[in-house]
Amino acid sequence: MTVSPAKEEQSAIGARAETMLSELGAISSEPNRLIRLFLSPEHRRAADLITGWMKSAGMSVAEDALGTVCGHWQPPGATGKRRLLIGSHIDTVIDAGRYDGPLGVVVGILAVKHLASRNVSLPFGIDVLAFGDEEGSRFRSTLASSSACAGIFDNASLAFADRNGVTLAQAIETYGKSAAGIPAAAYAREEAAAYVEVHIEQGPVLEAKNLPLGVVTAIVGQSRMRVVVLGEAGHAGTVPMPMRHDALVGSAEIVLAVERIAKTYSADNMVATVGRIEASPGATNVIPGRVGFSIDLRSATDSMRKAAIEQIKQDAQRIAASRKLEVAFEPFHETVTTPCAPHLQDLLASAIEDLRIEDLAQRAIRLPSGAGHDAQVMARLCPSAMLFVRCRGGISHNPAEYASPADIGLATAALVRFVERFAETQT
Ligand SMILES: [Zn+2]
Repeated sequence: MTVSPAKEEQSAIGARAETMLSELGAISSEPNRLIRLFLSPEHRRAADLITGWMKSAGMSVAEDALGTVCGHWQPPGATGKRRLLIGSHIDTVIDAGRYDGPLGVVVGILAVKHLASRNVSLPFGIDVLAFGDEEGSRFRSTLASSSACAGIFDNASLAFADRNGVTLAQAIETYGKSAAGIPAAAYAREEAAAYVEVHIEQGPVLEAKNLPLGVVTAIVGQSRMRVVVLGEAGHAGTVPMPMRHDALVGSAEIVLAVERIAKTYSADNMVATVGRIEASPGATNVIPGRVGFSIDLRSATDSMRKAAIEQIKQDAQRIAASRKLEVAFEPFHETVTTPCAPHLQDLLASAIEDLRIEDLAQRAIRLPSGAGHDAQVMARLCPSAMLFVRCRGGISHNPAEYASPADIGLATAALVRFVERFAETQT
């Protein structure tokens, strides 16, 4: 017998979530755009607002050394320290939308509030975590808050400075915390039963399929590199076409190869982007002698990504050789894929299917996350999973970001149902 909120309750929850997201979205360092940076006065105000919501939902609240707000609910039946972690982040990018991050925190609080109001008995406690550093908008570090909770915080990031020269270590002090307390933020492995994060999709897939919710299969790995193509600069008027070594035309051919190769891995949801390109010397009347461009390649399987990069390199060498150019690859960023725990994916999918949403065609869609999330760090601590919520137009990191109250109500109902199903596997 489920206590998951039915349709009318979902509407009320969605409306409440919308109000909470508006209140949070009003906390910004600038009046006309949303900016809420890690360990800023706005972070403090947002944390205080969330603390109040957690308390009124029946949770006890604590904060760790990096300002992560942790609301704890100990349901009837729960003994010991084992807990299910539900979280997301409350920091933002510059000129952000209101849903990226806060949605997961708000849905977590409302799910616990609902479970507590029904006096549901569970064999574990629930912690709702509001992390403060997912976007990396203030310091070079990202995911510092969840890293501390997962016990993998890198002390080197304490020396990173923001635009004003304030280091992370100093910002922690100003926030009224102490870096010495960071190790204590870590959960013991035996405490953390699982981590689940609800987040807007930040892409167009759910909307295109007319589905409100989706189960995340993995947070994709990323490879970023710079490619340098060397040819020979020359006079645009005097060098005949067959005698040129045009680095830009060669680069254009390589860029097309990048697109073609990524498309052959569509089953793996591979995406490749060339987002920057500079041609030198960069004059209208000079054949480009040197071109640098970036490649950002993401996929849900590390081996596929590596294979694609090898193919791109081979094609680039072939193209360069045919045009008597030189090409070099300089990798500068690599993150491995974080698969979501299969048993939690199945529970989330069942939870969605239990809601019997119209148009869902009896099955929950599964999709990878092309963006990074706190879940990729929490997966180092315990089995982790993510639930995606449809967002309008797939738009994110933009004030136009929007998820409907109806979808947020459904997400909360799915999360409640997930908690019930997870509890069945824990007894
Ligand atoms: Zn986010």
